[in-house]
Amino acid sequence: MKGIKANDPELFQAIEKELGRQRNKIELIASENFVSTTVLEAAGSILTNKYAEGYPGHRYYGGCEYVDIVEDLARNRALKLFGGDHVNVQPHSGAQANMAVYETILKPGDTVLGMRLAHGGHLTHGSPVNFSGQLYNFVDYGVTKEAQTIDYDEVADQAKKYKPKLIVAGASAYPRVIDFRKFREIADSIDAYLMVDMAHIAGLVAAGLHPSPVPFADFVTTTTHKTLRGPRGGMIICKEEFAKKLDKAIFPGIQGGPLMHIIAAKAVALGEALKPEFKSYAAQIIANARAFAEALLEEGINLVSGGTDNHLVLADVRNLGITGKKAEAVLDSVGITTNKNAIPFDPEKPFITSGVRMGTPAVTTRGFKEEDMKEVASIIALALKDPDNTESLKKLLVRVDALTEKHPLYAHGTGAFA
Ligand code: PLP
Repeated sequence: MKGIKANDPELFQAIEKELGRQRNKIELIASENFVSTTVLEAAGSILTNKYAEGYPGHRYYGGCEYVDIVEDLARNRALKLFGGDHVNVQPHSGAQANMAVYETILKPGDTVLGMRLAHGGHLTHGSPVNFSGQLYNFVDYGVTKEAQTIDYDEVADQAKKYKPKLIVAGASAYPRVIDFRKFREIADSIDAYLMVDMAHIAGLVAAGLHPSPVPFADFVTTTTHKTLRGPRGGMIICKEEFAKKLDKAIFPGIQGGPLMHIIAAKAVALGEALKPEFKSYAAQIIANARAFAEALLEEGINLVSGGTDNHLVLADVRNLGITGKKAEAVLDSVGITTNKNAIPFDPEKPFITSGVRMGTPAVTTRGFKEEDMKEVASIIALALKDPDNTESLKKLLVRVDALTEKHPLYAHGTGAFA
């Protein structure tokens, strides 16, 4: 950052402050992570200079012989890690990965069945404020009132009723294992395509710790920056029969030149995910989430579905007499970053909510273990139960500082990515 410091001090200050925030707060946003310095280096490399419309061996620009190597490294590593017939590593984001799949097999107005946003689905799974809900006729399924797990009977009933051309599985706020085989059976019963958006759980799938959707789905989309711990971006794995159409949907369909520096960073992250250490990392994400969930429950904090199988928990804060919005603000004031989130059948509006979503991928990267998660749960419980007690909140800040100092981040000499 020497160049930025010397040449753009205003920007330097903002980045320095953000680095301080990442180091000094406890990051529990379930969709975030801290990438390795190798990923950072690739993302900041000279590859940003190159135009490379097209695909390796078939570019619309000269001078692509070296970026072809970069993209092939990313593609080969992705297929080695996840299996599947074909991969496209060019989507600039998870939203664009999903858009490309819709472009590949749907026409505007076609019916699609996806998970209700309020029950854990993503905006791109049919929300009326998103292109997906505006271009296509989305119908939805959700979780049961009792167990708060995916209502597979409802999925089957809605499929039978609406005969969607595509079923979308996958979620942004769902703490349990998803049964992709069941989704495939339902899709087959009505001759529909199946797309699985594994954005949140990709790292767990990579490590073999969540069942893989690849054998069951026609298309698997993902982001690369969540549990997978790569740069911000998207990726799509599909069956061979869709390969050509999918590639065309990304370019020239919805994107121009690929971000070669980000594709290089994806290659680094995929290479890291192929190493045995990544399996231990993913196992620790899950162990931490379990310990965290148990400790929160012991503190009397309710969790949607009663716990977690993966990297996240969704706390229902109604019994504490506060809203999700208030909970997020109070936790932020003690140095814990979370996001308010709707819970299934939420009586509050989406900007208020009754829930808080919290995940372990980022803190696990910086070295938090089960005992640390218990301490985090204790801090959270004290903050949420007495949110206006400034004296007590001040004491909690000290406890947060102790945890972040115990597990340094991007430190020189010790800790994660020293
Ligand atoms: N799909 C799911 C399940 C997500 O959770 C997200 C982001 O949170 C996305 C897609 C969109 O990814 P992006 O923000 O990269 O567009």
